[in-house]
Amino acid sequence: MSDIKGRSGFCVVPDVRQICFRKGILYGFMRIFSIPLKTLRGASRSLRVDQFCSVVSISSSLMIELVPCLRDNYAYILYDVDTGTVGVVDPSEAAPIIEALTKKNLNLTYILNTHHHNDHTDGNAELKERYGAKVIGSDLDKERIPGIDIYLSDGDKWMFAGHEVHIMATPGVTRGHISFYFPGSGAIFTGDTLFSLSCGKLYEGTPEQMLSSLKKIMSLADDTSIYCGHEYTLNNSKFALSIEPENKELQSYASHVAHLRNKGLPTVPTTLKMEKACNPFLRTWSTEIRQKLKVAATAEDAEALSVIRQAEDTF
Ligand SMILES: [Zn+2]
Repeated sequence: MSDIKGRSGFCVVPDVRQICFRKGILYGFMRIFSIPLKTLRGASRSLRVDQFCSVVSISSSLMIELVPCLRDNYAYILYDVDTGTVGVVDPSEAAPIIEALTKKNLNLTYILNTHHHNDHTDGNAELKERYGAKVIGSDLDKERIPGIDIYLSDGDKWMFAGHEVHIMATPGVTRGHISFYFPGSGAIFTGDTLFSLSCGKLYEGTPEQMLSSLKKIMSLADDTSIYCGHEYTLNNSKFALSIEPENKELQSYASHVAHLRNKGLPTVPTTLKMEKACNPFLRTWSTEIRQKLKVAATAEDAEALSVIRQAEDTF
């Protein structure tokens, strides 16, 4: 959005979020404790015993910087503190990425694309040429992602500087759309599949495909942070409230979103827990939504999703 100020700084600019995340190097310990224990290497590394996982993870930092691009796109710079490796997710344009990297004197190693649309890939060529970065995307989009070097498919595990990245096929918007899930960091980059309070339009996919993609994302932990490709949340909240006005959590999230946007702040990342409570496309079972949109209680979830999608398209 043009009213989001500032395009630099993992730490300096207050309206650009930076989050320290954990790289999961897994130990085969059974879970007993849930208290983070600092190691001797300092605060950026900690020994963590995951709740509900039978593992201990030694963590280090992955930093994520949100970079506003174009009118309402977000690209994300990924920075591994230990190795200095840098990636960028969905660079819609090169200039703001170059500006953010130059301020920190960083190079760029990887460009990660969730899908081939121009507003997610138009920065590829210039960034690749300037930094020699490798472009990563779906093998289904070999012909459509500019400069693609590394082809990945559903279920692949790719490593970003020691951080495991799970490739999840999430078709619906396009047939080759993928999401990048960083389990050690509890973060997923969903491109245009899942937005806060909405999902992408079905340009190439069916409601069944989108439903299945959203269900895959919903199977992750509730505290997973969702980094989506656009700042659409305020408009989405108006539509969501129009079809589920009695949802108290939605009411309160919608006012929080309005407050953030009034201040020019991003609403991203959101959490899966919040989306499950408020996002109509993850709530196709909701009696209130179905009654508002005249979807039979017995209708399949994909049918409900299709009706919600059409209603939002004309909202
Ligand atoms: Zn987009």
